[in-house]
Amino acid sequence: MIKEIIPNLYSIPVPLPNNPLKELNAYLVKGPDRSLLIDTGFNLPPCWEALEAGLNETGVDRSRLDVLVTHIHTDHTGLSARVVSPEGKIYIGELDHPFTAQTFEDWFWEEMDRRFLKEGFPAEEVEVVSRTNPARHLGPQLDISAYTPVKEGEVFQIGDYRLEVLSVPGHAPGQLCLWMEEQGILFTGDHVLFDITPNIAVWANMDNMLGRYLENLKRIRAYPVKLALPAHRHSGDLVERIDQLLVHHRNRVAETLSIVEKYPGMTAYDITGRMTWDIRAKSWEDFPLNQKWFAVGEALAHLELLIQEGTVKPITREDGMVGYTP
Ligand SMILES: [Zn+2]
Repeated sequence: MIKEIIPNLYSIPVPLPNNPLKELNAYLVKGPDRSLLIDTGFNLPPCWEALEAGLNETGVDRSRLDVLVTHIHTDHTGLSARVVSPEGKIYIGELDHPFTAQTFEDWFWEEMDRRFLKEGFPAEEVEVVSRTNPARHLGPQLDISAYTPVKEGEVFQIGDYRLEVLSVPGHAPGQLCLWMEEQGILFTGDHVLFDITPNIAVWANMDNMLGRYLENLKRIRAYPVKLALPAHRHSGDLVERIDQLLVHHRNRVAETLSIVEKYPGMTAYDITGRMTWDIRAKSWEDFPLNQKWFAVGEALAHLELLIQEGTVKPITREDGMVGYTP
């Protein structure tokens, strides 16, 4: 069901089938001239049906609709090409913009597969993930020229509303928040979620994602936010949630370090299997493969932070894999 949060600002729930995130909150800012849709859902029929029905209910003029995707992930970008008006623009953070190029995408996934193999991910599992990971298949299939990059400090003026772009790398290199200062409303994208811990992974072209993420959590914490509008599920108290996330990652970093100390030389894949996870599976072996991929990515982000701090070092093991030692 759509909801009018304040006049001309709507939330539109879009279901995400077979995905632990369950649903995406798309937001529409309706203007007298152009309107802006923030995030879209996967490029899948049930997402499209919900998004289209929701938009129709708001009475927005679909022929004057622009789209802003808060980051590159396909649950946000998937329907952007289909929903945008013919002359409309699709805005994306400038640091995510390169990922929209097909050549870059191919290079990126090859690089990631190679990296995960070296980190101990079994070859047959990498093969399955590369065929089934929604990140690789449910995007909008657009050329890079279809997107307009936006950067920190840019402003969208829509009717009486002023939305300022904040660039907060961490969950994705080009993750954006949008800040409506007068109303005290912050669109958090996936930077802060209230029911889920945003996944922080490694990226082939940006280092220390977790370190950047933590800095940008602290940055956002200083804004006088009255209402946080996350891209998934419920809202809540932003400062309280940020403090929880900071503690969560501090504990995670400590847990990762203690595993490395206990089992020096272990691969990231095996370290991940010894960490505690909030996933319903009997054992590490029973993890759904795509969840395994995200988990290893997250463990690597924590290892990367420990390497930056100088408490852990990577080594090349006899079997050619990367191992980690104190
Ligand atoms: Zn998302």
